[in-house]
Amino acid sequence: MGVVVCEPQPSFISGYTALHFSKALANTILLMIIEELFLLYRKRPLEVRFWRKVTKTKSCWLWNGGTSEGYGMFMVEKHHYQLAHHVSWDLAFGLRPEYCKQFDVMHICDDRRCIRPSHLVLGSRGANVCDVFLKGRKRQFRRSSPFA
Ligand SMILES: [Zn+2]
Repeated sequence: MGVVVCEPQPSFISGYTALHFSKALANTILLMIIEELFLLYRKRPLEVRFWRKVTKTKSCWLWNGGTSEGYGMFMVEKHHYQLAHHVSWDLAFGLRPEYCKQFDVMHICDDRRCIRPSHLVLGSRGANVCDVFLKGRKRQFRRSSPFA
């Protein structure tokens, strides 16, 4: 009778044991599922994605997504962000024609995070700047100004 020598079998993928392989496979599958869910989320209609980031209070509808200088920012498509209150305006009243793009979408409530359509008005850039100064949201004159 010969002697049976029990040698460790080489794993089917070099450097991996079966346990490692199954863990790696599980992680890969998990990542694929997460990626698929993310893509599904991204493909949701723009309105659905938009309104999920809004909290409605009694007065203002506040943006909960990312902000820049206090203004809500919304990713309309990959790598393309727009001001959330501009998107809100366009969703409520229709896309602004090119001519109207020279106007600002102004807040009558003065809350930069607000995207409630009834709190938004179109105004000229000059009117917006004037509004900001009149409401004291910016210093009217610089310290170095002779009028300060
Ligand atoms: Zn408001």
